[in-house]
Amino acid sequence: RYTISLRARATSSDASAPSSPPVSLSELSVQQHARLSRLCELLLERNQQFNLTGMRTPEEVRTKLVDESLALLSVIPPEATVGTTTPPRLLDVGSGAGFPGLVLAIARPTWPVTLLEATRKKCDWLDEAAAALALSNVRVLWGRAEEWAAATRPDSRRECFDIVTARAVAELRTLAEYTLPFVRVGGWVLAPKQRPRPVESWPEWERALPAIDKLGGRTHAVLRMPVASDEDAALADEMPSERVTVVLTKHAATPAQYPRAPGRPAKRPL
Ligand code: SAM
Repeated sequence: RYTISLRARATSSDASAPSSPPVSLSELSVQQHARLSRLCELLLERNQQFNLTGMRTPEEVRTKLVDESLALLSVIPPEATVGTTTPPRLLDVGSGAGFPGLVLAIARPTWPVTLLEATRKKCDWLDEAAAALALSNVRVLWGRAEEWAAATRPDSRRECFDIVTARAVAELRTLAEYTLPFVRVGGWVLAPKQRPRPVESWPEWERALPAIDKLGGRTHAVLRMPVASDEDAALADEMPSERVTVVLTKHAATPAQYPRAPGRPAKRPL
């Protein structure tokens, strides 16, 4: 049985941000726990044939991939889910082996979850995992974010999502161009990041501000991620960096010229 260890609240480093709901992972059903366990097993099995993740042990997969993905539930702004008549449409850009997208699809089975991934082999794995775990709310898109969000593409997924996640995909200014075009006006981007401490300044975020602005976004909050125990909190306080999630919101439509051609956002960030 998959054991949930996270219990703390995510804390905001931005006093003006509304407080996040507490992490209430005990709400997961026995079936959801079983699916998370099975996902860890399947991933490690498949990882012996294809290099899907650098994680090698069940403990690493659980703490570094699954727990970190579940922790994102605590930083979804309440406005994204409370009082809406339909479940939020979620996109995970650069889903890789399925993190956080597959885990969020397990935890929120009524949400339609799209996993976008540039590597075919990883898309095959994502399809295989979604089928093995009977996740009927998951669909996988093969290709690059720059292609699927292009304004010129007839089947573009531009501005089709309420929440877009992207973990370990790119520097924030590039990530803004990969993600914001997919978000509807009023929607959200959640980007888990490592932020250096102490937090007098954060160059990665500061460099991204012009890009976020050009793309119709703004920073809603930078939220510290929850830890498992007081002991972990004390250990985290000793570290030279901390885990945060950058929460962007979109206040205006992204101009049609963005995202630029594939490769351009990484090579020449806005
Ligand atoms: N999000 C996963 C995680 O946290 O474990 C995977 C992280 S992996 C380091 C980055 C993934 O993003 C790779 O699988 C890569 O193929 C994908 N990726 C990078 N740039 C992309 C783009 N422009 N569009 C779609 N996928 C992209």
